[in-house]
Amino acid sequence: MKTLDKEALLKSIRDILDFPKRGIIFKDITTLLNNPLAFGDLMEHLEDRYKSYDLDFIAGIESRGFIFGSALATRLGIGFVPIRKKGKLPFTTVSEKYALEYGEDEVEVHIDAFGDKKGSRVLLIDDLIATGGTAKASANLIGKVGATCVESCFVLELTFLNGKANFPTPLYSILEI
Ligand code: AMP
Repeated sequence: MKTLDKEALLKSIRDILDFPKRGIIFKDITTLLNNPLAFGDLMEHLEDRYKSYDLDFIAGIESRGFIFGSALATRLGIGFVPIRKKGKLPFTTVSEKYALEYGEDEVEVHIDAFGDKKGSRVLLIDDLIATGGTAKASANLIGKVGATCVESCFVLELTFLNGKANFPTPLYSILEI
């Protein structure tokens, strides 16, 4: 197995200061995506890790989780399931609310997204975990529709926000800052 050059991967992600509001350092993964070496090495690393997990589906969190999740799903030869913000999915959905700093938000998945089999093995994926609110709600949602979230995977973890605390599934972050 090839070892991933984590330093190069981290360097391929651009920092945007004060986006979308003052005081936030936005981790811009578009510079990773348009760098074929960095993107290719990342996907190879994910394929190597997850090919032995006997997964049935990859679930990606809107919207950057769709990019990594669907690329990994085709590499592993399994289906991809989008987890979306409220009101975007056209068929019958199941939803899970979660608290924001001010107010709340909601994620949804199609009720039949993981097929008829009970306990389908699902990997949840997103680009970044910050407070963990979105990912925890998404992992809970997978359980709500009868599937099993075997692991949650993030390209980058902002460790100072402690999103890992009380996380409902095993968690794998490739990069930590
Ligand atoms: P959270 O629910 O706080 O863990 O936020 C996670 C979601 O917000 C993910 O979908 C991230 O893509 C996005 N996000 C949060 N903070 C940042 C950041 N500093 N840079 C880029 N994306 C972020």
